[in-house]
Amino acid sequence: MNGRRGIQQAEIGGLGHLLMLANSPECRHIIQSIIDHLPCGVTLFDQNLEMIACNGLFRRLLEFPDELFDGSLPSMKSLALFNARRGEYGPGDPDELAGQVVQRAMAMKPHQFERVRPDGTILEISGQPLPSGGFITLYTDITGRRFAEETLRDKEGLLRLIFDNSSVAIFTIDSSGRIGIANQRMVEMFLLPLEKLIGIEYVDLVDPAEQEIARKNVAEHLACEQLNINLERHYWCSNGTAFWGQLTARHMPAYKDGRAGLVCVVADITERKIAEHQLAERSSELESLNQELTSAVAALAASNAELLAARQELEHLAQHDNLTGIWNRRRIEEAAQQEMLRKARYGHPVSMLFIDLDHFKRVNDAHGHAVGDDVLKAFCDIAIKCMRSTDMLGRWGGEEFVILMPNSGLMIASLLAERIRKATWAYEFPAAGHVTASFGVAEYREDETWETWLCRSDAALYAAKEGGRNRVITDACGADEADEAELLDLAFLRLVWRSTYESGHASLDTQHRNLFEHANNLLTAVIGERPTDEVAPQIEALVADLLDHFRDEEAVLRSIGYSGADEHAQTHQGLIGRAGELVENFTSGELALGDLFNFLAYDVVAKHMLSEDRKFFGQIQAVRDTAG
Ligand code: GH3
Ligand code: MG
Ligand code: MG
Repeated sequence: MNGRRGIQQAEIGGLGHLLMLANSPECRHIIQSIIDHLPCGVTLFDQNLEMIACNGLFRRLLEFPDELFDGSLPSMKSLALFNARRGEYGPGDPDELAGQVVQRAMAMKPHQFERVRPDGTILEISGQPLPSGGFITLYTDITGRRFAEETLRDKEGLLRLIFDNSSVAIFTIDSSGRIGIANQRMVEMFLLPLEKLIGIEYVDLVDPAEQEIARKNVAEHLACEQLNINLERHYWCSNGTAFWGQLTARHMPAYKDGRAGLVCVVADITERKIAEHQLAERSSELESLNQELTSAVAALAASNAELLAARQELEHLAQHDNLTGIWNRRRIEEAAQQEMLRKARYGHPVSMLFIDLDHFKRVNDAHGHAVGDDVLKAFCDIAIKCMRSTDMLGRWGGEEFVILMPNSGLMIASLLAERIRKATWAYEFPAAGHVTASFGVAEYREDETWETWLCRSDAALYAAKEGGRNRVITDACGADEADEAELLDLAFLRLVWRSTYESGHASLDTQHRNLFEHANNLLTAVIGERPTDEVAPQIEALVADLLDHFRDEEAVLRSIGYSGADEHAQTHQGLIGRAGELVENFTSGELALGDLFNFLAYDVVAKHMLSEDRKFFGQIQAVRDTAG
């Protein structure tokens, strides 16, 4: 800027001499071409304030209309008036304002001032008297320059503000590793006055343990423009305390005397580091606590499992007999109570076998107690093989046993007793040889107590003993046994058909009789303990006849308009489903033949045919009588 002004001064000096010759057209031409090439607006006035010359830039800068310059160049006075009128000199009387301008020019003194034009443009105007009289005025648009200067000033102020009030230490390091400038925060952070900080070696501020690496880092960073540093460092204060700092540094290529430097920022992160440390400690504490808890939980789980096993063992001991492993007296009594309730609630029959091994004392006496024990265990195995899965065996004490038979009347119970008796008799006990047992059978009668039921079966057992042992005696004095006694000819172990079972419908009665026959055949097979493959076709035929019969019976019931026809058909469906399951279980060997017989004799014949079916007998007979 100053350089350009220097050039302008020299040019003006030269122009002054030329102006003396301005009368000649050649000179005017030379002057015009000189000022046309100057980078600012130029006017030349003579001592009478008449314009001698101006360049195009002057006319453009001040936006003069071309008409002002038509024919001849305007005088100072007319230009000033034009300017005053268009507000160039601000508010006021135009003649007065123009007069002031002319007056100032008349003084012919060097002057320099700035004028802000109405549109905001800033012009630097400098006038210089010429040696030959008159003067030259230069007009420069300095709007951009002024704006840049102001912006720079603002930015510098802002930076200063940040620098002075920053919460982080800001400083520079010169090429020799020394602190160049530093801010107030740095003074506070390192507890060193500014004059001591400036010029100190940066590494002297670092914890001695880290000084070596810090020196190496600074040297590398000064040498490499691309390197940016961002690291955590342990710093020392002048009072001997230390703190953690987060250092960020940037390379400055030409910081001082053409040599590189670094601009650095250090934030005190001591609190954060302490918090991090505490957090790490806390989480390791938590980790070990967690491990303790995990092992405590595992130990608890283990001891819980032990407790559970011990409890199960205790429960087992409380309910089972030590020697044979079957239920003990207490458990059998509990089960008996439940079955008695079932009888009361749903009418399901339940029977009991009371069993005593014959002359067992002799077994002990002859072969010793251990052989006696083995006989007791072997007897249990025999009984279990003969029983149905729902029957319950318990040791009553000594060589006495009880079997509870849910859903079984006297007939079925007697059959089972007979099977066990025969199987025991037939068995060759190791060491002991043949051992027999006596059986007392009693069906539970509603409203009697456990004691009376037990007493009746005990009495039957006593009778069996009295009768010569190795036999089954049934206590037949119960009311519920009447139906079955009527149904079952115990002497011949057969279901006996009676005229009262007739419905009055010929083909239905034939089918019912046929089913009786099937059941009896099956009973014969049970008692004879016939092999499965021999009995299987017999069962197949029975089930086929049962299906035919149910179908025919349902048709008859519908034809006579029996109101319970649908319900009756549903009962048939249930029985068919159950029969299918039992046959399947029997074929696969999971079910004893006795169970199958029990279902056919009890559920199908006794319960269904002789009680449900009897409900529609009346209607069949009525329809037949009406037709007849
Ligand atoms: P009865 O035909 O009249 O029943 O004659 P019994 O000898 O079987 O009857 P008794 O009541 O006179 O004898 C029962 C015997 O059973 C006496 C007892 O030593 C024996 N006994 C009881 N509990 C056990 C046991 O746990 N193991 C062995 N080995 N013997 C037992
Ligand atoms: Mg006894
Ligand atoms: Mg005995």
